[in-house]
Amino acid sequence: MKKTSTLPGEFELIARYFAPLAKGFPGAYGLLDDAAVIAPLPGHELVAKTDAIVGGVHFLPDDPPDLVARKALRVNLSDLAAKGAVPRAYMLDIMLPRTVTEEWIAAFARGLAQDQDVYGMHLIGGDTDSTPGPVTIAIMAFGDVATGRMLRRGGARAGDTVFVTGTIGDAALGLEVLRGQSARPDTEAANFLVDRYRLPQPRVTLGPRLVGLASAAIDVSDGLLADLRHICEASELAALIEAPRVPLSTAARAALATAAERLSTVFTGGDDYEILFTAPPAALSELTELSQTLDVPITAIGRMESLSAWRKTPITVLDESGKPFAFDRGGWTHF
Ligand code: ADP
Ligand code: MG
Repeated sequence: MKKTSTLPGEFELIARYFAPLAKGFPGAYGLLDDAAVIAPLPGHELVAKTDAIVGGVHFLPDDPPDLVARKALRVNLSDLAAKGAVPRAYMLDIMLPRTVTEEWIAAFARGLAQDQDVYGMHLIGGDTDSTPGPVTIAIMAFGDVATGRMLRRGGARAGDTVFVTGTIGDAALGLEVLRGQSARPDTEAANFLVDRYRLPQPRVTLGPRLVGLASAAIDVSDGLLADLRHICEASELAALIEAPRVPLSTAARAALATAAERLSTVFTGGDDYEILFTAPPAALSELTELSQTLDVPITAIGRMESLSAWRKTPITVLDESGKPFAFDRGGWTHF
């Protein structure tokens, strides 16, 4: 019962579903040439980022294809935002098993079209192949940043404040709901958490505005502590985080109220797609104003410190009474 016979050939698929997404970007040449041309804006350079997602690993075979497409694009936009870049164009490599239907591809392309409108970008090329494995999608996104100004992991200074956008832990808690590990899966709160997992909201308006304000930045995809560790290592600094200041949604607070051990999920779970950044304390008033103008919550959660020999790890997290949590790869425990 293979549906191969219903699927048009590679070039027909490109012409029907992908070429319309290239309209409006002259350098894409309608996807009718071998490659595309992107000219950086004057005084800018292109930031490039690629991320692949694999069926059965990053999404489930029966996930809605439009959401799969949007997530594949958005995880890349989150990286561009954290690097201070304005999104411009992307390429799509898609590996399709023979069992995929034309309806699936049509819905996938509709998802891309929807987000192209939201983020003002265009498809400029890619590759289409068949595979004996699951659907595999690699997107490479390009964005503009003023020359030499891409936000780096390694720019933090001792005394800088650590900030994070939005709320942390929702997506990881949402995944627990999807896996049936949550006591009350059908509540409004549970749906909110699942949405946060299914469809990231990359901070594309804020990211470029952090250029000149933030000293270091990264997007939170591996988990708050793992990504903070990347900033610490690249900046050769330690970080002190005050757990009660880490911003949580109402739904996440409710989940923690029923099971305090979920704090480990919140701090070490991934897929938040918020921006974690450092900035000198003097930037606070400008950041507060930016947060209001753009309607993006920004919360100070701690500070960067010089590495001192007595610390076992570069990150210390204090609880509400000022006592440090100990943590290992398995999660969190009190000392
Ligand atoms: P090649 O033979 O060099 O691999 P293709 O025949 O695969 O080139 O692709 C022809 C054109 O279609 C190229 O411009 C390529 O960028 C574009 N293209 C192919 N697949 C996709 C896709 N999934 N999304 C966007 N553009 C695509
Ligand atoms: Mg090809």
